[in-house]
Amino acid sequence: MDTSNYGDNSGPGERKAAEYVAGLLADVQIEPQVFESEPGRTSVVARIPGEASDRPALLVHGHLDVVPAQKQDWQVDPFSGEVVDDCLWGRGAVDMKDMDAIILATIRQMRHEGRRPPRDIVLAFMADEEAGGVKGSSWLVDNHPGLFEGVDEAVSEVGGFSVELQGRRTYLLQSAEKGIAWVRLVATGRAGHGSQVNGDNAVTHLAQAVARIGAHRWPTVIPATVQAFFEGVHEQTGVQLLTGQEVDVEKLREMFGSTARWLEATVQNTANPTVLEAGYKHNVIPGQASALVDCRFLPGQRDELMRTLTELAGEHVKVEVLHSDVALEAGFEGGLVQAMRQSLLELDPGAAVLPYCLSGGTDNKAFSRLGIRGYGFAPLKLPADLDFAGMFHSVDERVPLESLRFGVRAFDRFLQLV
Ligand SMILES: [Zn+2]
Repeated sequence: MDTSNYGDNSGPGERKAAEYVAGLLADVQIEPQVFESEPGRTSVVARIPGEASDRPALLVHGHLDVVPAQKQDWQVDPFSGEVVDDCLWGRGAVDMKDMDAIILATIRQMRHEGRRPPRDIVLAFMADEEAGGVKGSSWLVDNHPGLFEGVDEAVSEVGGFSVELQGRRTYLLQSAEKGIAWVRLVATGRAGHGSQVNGDNAVTHLAQAVARIGAHRWPTVIPATVQAFFEGVHEQTGVQLLTGQEVDVEKLREMFGSTARWLEATVQNTANPTVLEAGYKHNVIPGQASALVDCRFLPGQRDELMRTLTELAGEHVKVEVLHSDVALEAGFEGGLVQAMRQSLLELDPGAAVLPYCLSGGTDNKAFSRLGIRGYGFAPLKLPADLDFAGMFHSVDERVPLESLRFGVRAFDRFLQLV
């Protein structure tokens, strides 16, 4: 199902997928509630009573939208869901219809066998995650907070997958995520004829600001989760990736392959210029020019990022925040973490489990406004040679069927332990 999210409401929306999910839930006597923030932008929420309904509930959530895919770049039709070489191919195979499917398969099996989870579970399948959750998780939290009454913890995407760490399968659980600040730089200057001397050219001001920001080397900062990750790596392999405030990036890349791209970004803030907008005629100097910059900050680093950004932008360039969301750090203690760890290790004895910080963001940000602590736990036992991190938002996104089967077994075990 094509649920591409272009970020401007021009896509097909999530309704078709939401109706499909609602049908699968209704089929096993779970009553789905369907919500639309705007026509076609559909989310599904349902509550399953647990054995101990006096305990806080667990939120299990996934998003139904995906980033767009250019068919001509792919080896298969990105919305065909083809199975080739024992892999399921298609946009959303790892981000995150794989996990949506794991959740649905697990819950339906549980119902077929007449089992109840230890505590109440709230299921939520959301619209619009790929554009910051404004029309999905954020809208639900603002307009229907009662749906999440009594929920204290949540699990969702981009954690629980395996990497090969010096020959030992190691599962990375996501227990922190960076914050987002999508900003626009607006340069102003003196408009005029392109043939004249102009020391106050908005395009020049903007270009200088963009160059300064893009080239800035952000200082290394190590959040507690990342510290715990490095300590875990050291314990497991004897390799010290962190000395004082210095991270051995070469070694990190050597050890983690493509996953290192995610990990590298969790020891510093980032600010990447992505869009330039200026001018309308070759011989006209515009009075204004603007650029978009994608900034991501570590937990506790938002003010520092904004301060540096403003300084780098300089006197002729204003920094406007278009979209901003919190950084999260949930910690790596407690029963829920123990349940994630145990479910993986029971099914894959001899493996290791480490916490990590996600360099991107998830719907956990919106739910944190209700005091819900969120983790990334979409369990996948992956072949060592699969470029998993490289699949996200990329061409030929795919997931091994065997990894999905493992995911269902691990998630089922997890839901028995929570
Ligand atoms: Zn996702």
